[in-house]
Amino acid sequence: MVFVMAYTWEPKWEKYRVEVDGIILYTCRDKITGMIACPICIHAASTCLETEKRRPRDYTVENSFFFSPHDLIVHIREYHARGLNKKYLVSSEKKYKKLIK
Ligand SMILES: [Zn+2]
Repeated sequence: MVFVMAYTWEPKWEKYRVEVDGIILYTCRDKITGMIACPICIHAASTCLETEKRRPRDYTVENSFFFSPHDLIVHIREYHARGLNKKYLVSSEKKYKKLIK
């Protein structure tokens, strides 16, 4: 389930470690609502992880928030893996996991 952000909501981001089925990734979580953001959609590296100072100018931020780590993983698989060969994903799950770590 995707939560659509209201304009009045100001997220207070904190770093958050997601672990589902052996997949570990770091993203941002809102302290108030507990919503987990998609690290790709919001450019977590510059939003809360502080691994990059700012996001690239041409980066399109999308507001995708989830209630559970599992929902986030499903989103990444279904939404961000679209351009990849699905057969490849199924046949080499280990390689795919490396991609989103
Ligand atoms: Zn996303």
